[in-house]
Amino acid sequence: MSLEGMAALVTGGSRGIGRAVCLELARQGAAVAVNYAGSIQAAEETVRQCRQLGVEAELFQADVASPAACDALVAAVKERFGRLDILVNNAGISRDGLLMTAKEEDFSKTLDTNLKGAYFCTKAAAKVMLRQKYGRIVSLSSVVGLRGNPGQTAYAASKAGILGLTKAAAKELAGRDITVNAVAPGYIATDMTAALPEKAREAMLTTIPKGRPGTPEEVARAVAFFAQRESAYVTGQVLCVDGGMAV
Ligand code: NAP
Repeated sequence: MSLEGMAALVTGGSRGIGRAVCLELARQGAAVAVNYAGSIQAAEETVRQCRQLGVEAELFQADVASPAACDALVAAVKERFGRLDILVNNAGISRDGLLMTAKEEDFSKTLDTNLKGAYFCTKAAAKVMLRQKYGRIVSLSSVVGLRGNPGQTAYAASKAGILGLTKAAAKELAGRDITVNAVAPGYIATDMTAALPEKAREAMLTTIPKGRPGTPEEVARAVAFFAQRESAYVTGQVLCVDGGMAV
């Protein structure tokens, strides 16, 4: 299978899972638009590594929590590559805290980035994809969005919201060869999970039948499956990449 001739936009492509997705899509031949919020050096490194794989890659700064920024981002990618075949809604944050003590501003910031960001980008990308009569949209949800997790009400709500967005958009866009799917990782070794207290990480490990955290590359391969032209008949689905955590 190959993604040659395709153009992909990956939000939050500077680090972690997003960088691994950029590199996997590049390895399969796609031109890659690497979005980031603030980490320009890390994003430049992703671009450099994509280009080393022999594909076109470009840097695009944008805060996905802003609808205007998402519109401008998609327009800039379309301008640069002439098309947009694959959107990966990966950008995400976690602002954890117990229900009774967490601040409303952290809830809003989490929803704005994780859920509304995916909504804004999906909407902007769908306009291009509807005209093309082709598109593959993949969003990063989480096992926490399926199962919940104490101390993560905002994050869980945002990731459960991704599932609803995915299923509804899948039904709306299916007629134009646009698929919309989600990948739900469990515990993946990235900056996001490195920021958790060691006790929380140890507790999470005990819930994983595989007995280890996943790698960003393992998540990227699931994203790349949905991104294939040949995956045309798979839409509205959620694939857990979690070492058995959610079983
Ligand atoms: P990470 O290492 O913390 O990286 C987050 C990425 O999102 C960075 O590239 C960051 O850009 C970008 N980002 C954050 N806010 C943004 C904004 N407002 N606009 C644009 N980009 C923004 O996270 P990760 O662990 O790779 O997670 C990636 C995705 O997978 C997230 O949606 C996360 O919720 C999901 N996920 C992760 C795990 C896990 O165990 N790691 C599990 C389930 C789901 P900058 O570098 O510029 O800040």
